[in-house]
Amino acid sequence: MHPLMRCDRTRKWALENLAMETQFIISPSNISKHLKELSKIGNLGERLEDGFLRASWSDEETAAMEYIRAQGESAGLQGRYDAVGNLFLSTPFDKEENETSTGEVIQIGSHLDTVPRGGLFDGGAGIVAGLEAILAVVKSEKALKRRLELVIWRGEESGTFTTVFKGSKAAFGILDASCLENVYGGVTLRHAIEGQGYDASLIEQGTATLAQDSIDSIAAHFELHIEQATKLEKDNCDIGVVSSIRGPRRFRITLYGEAAHSGATPMGSKYRSDANLCMAHTIVALDGLCSQHIAGGKDLVQTVGIINTDKAVNARHPEIYESAITKVSPLAYFSLDIRSNNKATLESYTQSALSLIQDKADELSVKVEIERVGSSDPLEQLDPCLQDLLEQSARDLGYSSQRLSSGAGHDVAVVAQQRKSDGTTIPTALVFIPCRKGISHNPMEFATDDAIHKGAMVLAQAIGSIC
Ligand SMILES: [Zn+2]
Repeated sequence: MHPLMRCDRTRKWALENLAMETQFIISPSNISKHLKELSKIGNLGERLEDGFLRASWSDEETAAMEYIRAQGESAGLQGRYDAVGNLFLSTPFDKEENETSTGEVIQIGSHLDTVPRGGLFDGGAGIVAGLEAILAVVKSEKALKRRLELVIWRGEESGTFTTVFKGSKAAFGILDASCLENVYGGVTLRHAIEGQGYDASLIEQGTATLAQDSIDSIAAHFELHIEQATKLEKDNCDIGVVSSIRGPRRFRITLYGEAAHSGATPMGSKYRSDANLCMAHTIVALDGLCSQHIAGGKDLVQTVGIINTDKAVNARHPEIYESAITKVSPLAYFSLDIRSNNKATLESYTQSALSLIQDKADELSVKVEIERVGSSDPLEQLDPCLQDLLEQSARDLGYSSQRLSSGAGHDVAVVAQQRKSDGTTIPTALVFIPCRKGISHNPMEFATDDAIHKGAMVLAQAIGSIC
């Protein structure tokens, strides 16, 4: 179907919505009940501030999913796990009984795994809001033309097993099989998956767990997430309607110099091959290069998150422990994370950054090894019609909203890039709610019950008007 036709149809849905009174009710106490129960799973102490660890395919992630499954099933939803352990909780599908059914499904997805010492709300807020939004529409007894489905993706975070979006990528058959050998907590990802009773061989073969007709039937896919930045909080705004998502290119850069006496060796690259000095020059030059591109109007962010301190790398390079105050450094490494919401910008800037790194190394007589450690493409535009629909839903409910770009990646970006049989992509949308001080991936991560409730109400209003 031509994107414009899809757009027209959504506009029609949006118009129906205009005439519809807000009829979906979500009790704020349900939101707090679910958060309270989830706060007992994978918690590292009694208080929220003690943080959480629900690793990908861990007992804790499974327990959190089982809690949500039990809540959904007791309200009439049907749960099923796919072959790798993603959970789909759906309104019953009975075409015989419902003549008006289109055979399509509207999904709300997110995740319940956390980074090590993470918080309760990254992922959790989206699942709680999604569950309550779907149950509110079900309870309204509206006749459904399209099924509603909550999707809990496994292993979204790269904080365990290094790779991001593991469950959603596996569902569509695009998870790089090499990540099965990644290790966290002493076990490989393959063992973690098999340990929870699921099948890693599909990932090995690049086979999707979802049949093509299931992918074709997805009429729209929503995700709600805490903002992980301060824009909404500072603007005192209830709802963010996300227009694009930045994608990353990530590298580990290792510089090989030569150990030498710090007193006896003259300065200058003719005599010294100083890995630490090369790293310092390179990082400063990269910052200048990125600032130049930003000044030229490009969307870019760049971060050196690790220098010489990564446990996994240090195990491979024990010479890092042979550094000394009286030694020209023989080895240095740093990580580089480059992100943009535009694929062409991301690719051309990455090329410039990598040649700068090579040039600096040559200039300072240091050998360089550049390792790509992960990347995904930006999502340049989420579905414009679903953005309109969310904005209108917020307006119907009397909430403030604004459009913004997401700096962090989310499962919805994986879903957005999958093709249906007719060549179109799945229409996707992302809702942000404010989180305290923009903090996430941290035990201090916090969103109020009220913020999550408002997000859930917007989701209910949006899905309720197109199902
Ligand atoms: Zn998340």
